[in-house]
This record gives sequence, C-alpha cells and structure tokens, in this order.
Amino acid sequence: MANSNGVEGLHVWSSPEGGCKIDIGKQIFCNRSLNMKNILAVGFDMDYTLAQYKPETFESLAYEGTIRKLVYDLCYPPELLEWTFDPKYMVRGLVLDKKRGNILKMDRHKYVKVAYHGFRELSKEDKVGTYGNTLIRDSFDEPDYALIDTLFSLAEAYLFAQLVDYKDNNPGKVPEGADYSHMYKDVRAAVDLCHRDGTLKQMVAKDPKRYINEDTSIVPMFKMLRASGRSTFLVTNSLWDYTNIVMNFLCASHALDGSLSCNFDWLQYFDVVVTGSAKPGFFHEENRANIFEVEPESGMLLNTDNGTPMPQVGSTSPEVLLKGLNKSCRVFQGGNVAHLHKLLSIESSSQVLYVGDHIYGDILRSKKVLGWRTMLVVPELEREVKLLWELRDMRKQLRLLRDERDLVEDQIHHLKWSLNLKGIKHDLLINKLNGSVIKSSIRSGDNS
Ligand code: IMP
Ligand code: MG
Repeated sequence: MANSNGVEGLHVWSSPEGGCKIDIGKQIFCNRSLNMKNILAVGFDMDYTLAQYKPETFESLAYEGTIRKLVYDLCYPPELLEWTFDPKYMVRGLVLDKKRGNILKMDRHKYVKVAYHGFRELSKEDKVGTYGNTLIRDSFDEPDYALIDTLFSLAEAYLFAQLVDYKDNNPGKVPEGADYSHMYKDVRAAVDLCHRDGTLKQMVAKDPKRYINEDTSIVPMFKMLRASGRSTFLVTNSLWDYTNIVMNFLCASHALDGSLSCNFDWLQYFDVVVTGSAKPGFFHEENRANIFEVEPESGMLLNTDNGTPMPQVGSTSPEVLLKGLNKSCRVFQGGNVAHLHKLLSIESSSQVLYVGDHIYGDILRSKKVLGWRTMLVVPELEREVKLLWELRDMRKQLRLLRDERDLVEDQIHHLKWSLNLKGIKHDLLINKLNGSVIKSSIRSGDNS
C-alpha cells in the first residue's frame, strides 16, 4: 500500500492541501471502485450510520432497561438488577444458539471456530461433537439461532450469556419452564419493548450528547453533496420525533452552554426524508405500505396519493396541496422504494448510493434485489486497521518465519522421500538378489 506521496509503508498520510496528518483510523480504503459520476442520489440510514451511539452509555441503557422489564414484567429474580454490562465483550458477527445456550463464532464458510456456553468456552471435543458431526450442515439461522448483526444487539447477547450461566448455577431461580430458548425469547421481547416504549428514546432525547458521538464532519459532507447537485435522502426506521432530535444534534451548532434548540434547519440537507421505513421490507417494490406525509411542526401524518399531497377532508384550501409540493425537503413515514424513486425522479436504481450499518436491513436487499450501489459502515474496522498497522513489523516477521518454516518442512519432506526411495531400492535389490539365489538353487537341485 502506498501513501498519498507514493511512499510505500509510510503511515502519516497528508491531505491534498498538504501537511495535515490523517489518523490511520480515518483514512479511506476501498475494496471496489465506484464512479461517482453515475450517482445521482445519495441516501443515508440514521442510527449507527450517521449517529454513532456510545456503547458504554447507550447500550448500557438498553441493558438496564431490559433487565428492569425482565424483573418487573416477566418475573425474573430481583438480583438481576445488580448485574453489570461489559460493552466490549460481545462483537457483531456472533451467533446465538438459543436452544443450547451457546454463543458461536464462525468463519465465512459457517464452520464453528469458537463456541462458548454462557461465558465458558467449550472444549474442542464438545464443539466438534455438537457442531461438526452432522450429516446435513446446519444453516445456523432463525428460528434456532439468532444473528448478532447490529450494534443494537450487543446488550441482548451479553444478557443471554449471563442468564445461561445464572440458570446453570441456580436452576430453581429462573421462571418455571424457562429453558434457554425461552429465556432468549424473553430477553428479545424486553429489548424490543425498550426500543418501542420510549425507555431508550426519551433518555436520548433528554441528553443526546451523553449517548451519541458528536461528528463535526457530517454537515460539511452534506454541504459537499448538495453542492455537487446530487439529490440526498434519509431512510430510517426511527419515527419522525426521534429522527428530528438525533438529526438536530448531529447537524445543529450547539450553544455555548451545550444546550440544543430543536429546529428544522437540518432538513435543508435533504430532498426527501423517510421515517418509520420498516426496512428491509421497504426495499420490496411490491410492499404495499402506505406512505404518509409528515408535517414537521406538529408531527401529524397526512394522507398522500402515493406521495403526492392529497386534499385533507375538512380542509378545502389548495394551500395544503401547494405547501407540500413547494417544500425543499419533504418528510414521510412508511411507503416503499418505488415511492422514493418517484419522489427523487430516479430512473435507474444504479444511480442511487445508499449508506447504512445493517448488512441485512440496509444493504443486502437494496443491493441484491434493487441494484442500488451500497456502502456499509463498519466502525469495528477502525480498530482493526489500527491494530494491523501497529503490528505490521510483527506480521512481517511472522510471514518471514512462516516462509522459513515452509522451506524447512519442504526439505524434511524431500529427505524423507529420498530415504523411503532408498529403502525401496534397497528392498528391491534384496528381493532381486534373493530371486537369483532361489533360481540358482533350483537349478542346482537344492530344495532346502
Ligand atoms: P435505522 O438504523 O436508522 O434504520 O433505525 C433503527 C431503528 O430501529 C431505531 O429507531 C432503533 O431504536 C430501532 N430498533 C433497533 N432494534 C430494535 C428492536 O429490537 N426492536 C424495535 N426497534 C428496534
Ligand atoms: Mg442503522
């Protein structure tokens, strides 16, 4: 890899303007080129894409809220309230085996590389006995398995592992009949409720700074995209009230005391905002979800005719119709991708680039079914790239040692072969000699 000065291996990259050091975690790498000339619209997901939550506060909030629901609504013992959460323990990409209470790390070919029961690692024999000895390969999919594929799921995976250990050590204390799968179902239901009943969102709304990382590069990026003449849009599963709070926090300039006044200025950066989009269903054109226009000031939902403003019964004023059409950014709830294409006047789905964090919710369908160009946000890569860089000398040394080992192994192989070959030749010679001795003794009539 060469840096911007074309110097191999130099890790301090500079900006085109010159001089400015760019941290390795902030540099841009690509695994595929994309001609931005063909992109007419750029869209964003919001949660964990534009808004990077702080796991130590946000995921802890989800964790604590979930425990409270388990204890107060689902009859789990109150001692759970004492439990704590380690936001660094779980990572995305893990798979939960709901029936067995195991947490699996698999490779890309779905071979289980590491398996834990709760927090205890399974021995190699147990692991292979459970996951490596089946005639038909397990799909490791729902309903028996759960994929930890969003950062939102880290807390529930951690809590599941804690409950598995707890049940093993205190069989009588978990609610009657609660096997591992049942406990997973309870945790899932409690987490789901935390997202829906305001447990999380009200807390974030009160103090966004505590839960979301500030990012001063977001507004310049929007401005750059707008200046390039492209359409921009937001498609989020969050509803309008919460979207407005988070986007205000990300885009607004904060007062000196850190306080935030909510307004709609951030809408200037978008042509269309779709809230409550119910991705990944949103990406199915045949999904017949109604699309409603959201009135930002009141949050009221207005009926539309496939996105076109409709006169509301009781209001005869044509202004209502015009108001919707004249706005530079229109806000919606629901609908599907066909509505969005129409609103943005998109003729070919390959003209759209969408940026998201959820491989299933944001990327897979939009890319495979629709043909949108996609960009996956993987914050974990920042640490990985840093580690790869910091350990570069050690990795180089390892590579050299490996090459050396291969060479020695080759030589051993060679020597073994030549020894074997010599042995074979020796045996053949003996056999040959024996053969001639037998022949000569037959000839001489010696039968002994
Ligand atoms: P997006 O990533 O911007 O599309 O928004 C994700 C939305 O999904 C956020 O509003 C989350 O609160 C919500 N969410 C995440 N996990 C769950 C869940 O398990 N149940 C319900 N909502 C969820
Ligand atoms: Mg997201």
